[in-house]
Amino acid sequence: MLQSQADGMQTKLTPTVEDYLSILWVLERDGEPVIGARLAEILGVTPPTVTNTLKRMMRNGLIAVDQEKGFCLTEQGRQAAQSVMRRHMLTEWLLLRMLDWSKTHSQAHTIEHTVSVELEEALRNNLENPQLCPHGNPLPGYEHVVVGWQPLLSFSSGATVIIRRVHELAEQNPELLAFLEEHQVMPGKAALITEILPFNETITLQIEGQAVTLGYIVARYIFAEPA
Ligand SMILES: [Zn+2]
Ligand SMILES: [Zn+2]
Repeated sequence: MLQSQADGMQTKLTPTVEDYLSILWVLERDGEPVIGARLAEILGVTPPTVTNTLKRMMRNGLIAVDQEKGFCLTEQGRQAAQSVMRRHMLTEWLLLRMLDWSKTHSQAHTIEHTVSVELEEALRNNLENPQLCPHGNPLPGYEHVVVGWQPLLSFSSGATVIIRRVHELAEQNPELLAFLEEHQVMPGKAALITEILPFNETITLQIEGQAVTLGYIVARYIFAEPA
């Protein structure tokens, strides 16, 4: 059941609904169509499960159907999504003080749902108003900070870049994050692009003297800027 939003406090939503809201927020922000099959793929659940949850969210006024764009967040849904995104990203920073970078996302993912408005405020102050999460993704309202960063594949071989961002959809994969951390493919690291092989769909980087090869599928989730 939804609680009243009259006092401007966060609505009490289930963790599942909050997870859907986060994904919908990211897809909508990126201009990706929000369709059930894509959500099922991202969330790793069956299409009927997605349909049931989306129906519930429509009844609760969190989403609506747009003929062209698929599902879209209502104003209420957007506010709830922004709230869970903020709580998630602030929790990631808190956890970074005690956990590996690659583990902060999955742990924050379980904690974020219990973060109160009061704790969110305390975290924001304590962390000095971060604009990005530890993976370089923007907190809601700070999208402009990341617009100049380009996907790794938009650079040419021989370019030196600074890694800035590992997209939210890549954060969903703990094995990938562990691999990226092991090879220092993380925000702030300088990388030399040594080889791009279109026929193989791979890009090879040199970071801190170590070579690492990524497939295009992963590389399109990594953003950088010229060094
Ligand atoms: Zn995350
Ligand atoms: Zn993050």
